[in-house]
Amino acid sequence: MNSLLLTGGRVIDPANKFDSSADVLIIDGKISAVGKNLSAPKGIEIFDSGGKIICPGLIDLHVHLREPGQTAKENLATGTAAAARGGFTSVVCMPNTSPAIDNSGTVALIRERAAREGGVNVFVTGAITKNIAGEELAPIGSLKKAGVVAITDDGHCVQNNELMRRACEYAKMFDLPVMDHCQDYSLVTDGVMHEGYWSTALGLRGWPSAGEEMIVARNILLAELTGAKIHCQHLSAAGSVAHLREAKKRGVTISGEACPHHFVLTDAAVAGSEKFWANDGKILANSQTDGLPSWPAYDTNFKMNPPLRSAKDREAILEGVADGTIDILCSDHAPHCDYEKEVEFDYAPFGITGLETELSLSLMQLVHTKRISFVDMIAKFTVNPARLLNLNKGTLSVGADADVTVFDPNCEWIFRTEDSASKSKSSPFSGWQLKGKATATIVSGKIVWAENQKPHMALAAA
Ligand SMILES: [Zn+2]
Repeated sequence: MNSLLLTGGRVIDPANKFDSSADVLIIDGKISAVGKNLSAPKGIEIFDSGGKIICPGLIDLHVHLREPGQTAKENLATGTAAAARGGFTSVVCMPNTSPAIDNSGTVALIRERAAREGGVNVFVTGAITKNIAGEELAPIGSLKKAGVVAITDDGHCVQNNELMRRACEYAKMFDLPVMDHCQDYSLVTDGVMHEGYWSTALGLRGWPSAGEEMIVARNILLAELTGAKIHCQHLSAAGSVAHLREAKKRGVTISGEACPHHFVLTDAAVAGSEKFWANDGKILANSQTDGLPSWPAYDTNFKMNPPLRSAKDREAILEGVADGTIDILCSDHAPHCDYEKEVEFDYAPFGITGLETELSLSLMQLVHTKRISFVDMIAKFTVNPARLLNLNKGTLSVGADADVTVFDPNCEWIFRTEDSASKSKSSPFSGWQLKGKATATIVSGKIVWAENQKPHMALAAA
C-alpha cells in the first residue's frame, strides 16, 4: 500500500519554496498532493501531524555504516535504524571499510545488502584510491557504473596533489563529485586534538587548524584547474570557512559541510565538563534545565577527526552556516566499539555517533538561536545534499518518492546512549537535554519509525 495522509502540520519544502500549513497525501509510495484540507481515499491511514513540521526526508551524506568488515562497530541494519530514529530517510555511506569500497563488486554487495537490510535509503560512495592508500587511483568509471554517488577517501586524504588532480579529472568526466577529508599529514602528524591552549595544558599532541586549511586551499585550486565539483567534508577551522567563502564568490565549484559537534562543542570539552561549561559552554548551559551533563577530562567521546576546535573556530563555522558558505549539514556518524574507545585518549580511535542527535543539535544551535530559519536548515539537510550528489530526493514535489520527515521543533527530551539504535554508545551528548526531535520517518510512503506511532493514526472513512 504505502499510502498515507499527513494532516495538520506546517509543510516546509525548500526545493519548491513552500512553507505553509498543509496536508501531504502519499499514494503508493509517491507524493500525490500537498495542500490544504486534502481528503484521503477510503481506508488510507491518516497521520495527525498537528503542531509538527513536515519536510522532505532528511539526507545525511556523511555516515559510516562499517560494512563490509567492521560489523562489531555498526552494520547496515543498526546504522539505518539509528538514521530512522534521527529523522533521516537517506544516508550516504563512506568507503573506508575493511576491505575498502574501491571496486564495483563491493559497491554491488553493499547496495544489495542495503536493499535487503537497510531501514532507510542507502547511497554508496567509492574510494578515490585503491584501498584508500593514496597511491593509485581506484577504477572511477566502473565505480560510477556500479552506482556510487561520489568518490572520497574519507578517514584519509590523498596527499599527492598530482594524483588528486587526476582523480578530479576522471570524476568530472563521469559527473561525480569528489568529497574530501581535508588533512595535511605533514602538518598534522600524530595530533589527537586541536593544537592550542588546551592541547598544551593537557599535554596532548596538537592537530593544527592549518592542517585542514592547507587542503581546503589545495582543493579550491584543483576545482579551478579541473572544473570538478569538490566538496570539503566536516569543516572545523575558521580559515577553511574564509577560504571557501572567498572561492564561492568567484564561482569555484567547491562546497562544504559542517557537523553539529563542531558547532556546539569546543576543545575545552576535552579538559572536562567544568572547564567547558565555565566558559565555552555558557550559552548552551541555559538549555540544560535538568542540571549540566558532566564528563571527565580526556573523555574519548570528545575525540574525533578533525578535532573539536577553539570557540573562535566554532563561531566561524556558525557564521559560515548562517551566510550559506557551508551549504550542507551532516553527522559524520562514526561508530566504534566501547572497548576501542575505553582506552587512553592517545590510543582511542577518532569518531563519535551522530545520527540521532544531529537534527536536535542543529535546531538548538542554529534555528532556536535565530541564526538561520527552519527553511534554511531543512535545505541543508535535503535539497542541498541531493543537488550535490544528483540524488532524485530532497523534495515533496508531486510524483517524487514519498520520503518524508515529521519533527517537533520544541519537544524537550534527554538523549541517552543506552536508548540508541546504533551499536555504538560513543557520543559526547549522552545525558544532554535536547530541544527538537523527529517524530516520524517515512520512506517511500512507509513509516519506518515513529514515536508513539499508534495515537497519531486513524483510518479515512468513505
Ligand atoms: Zn572524515
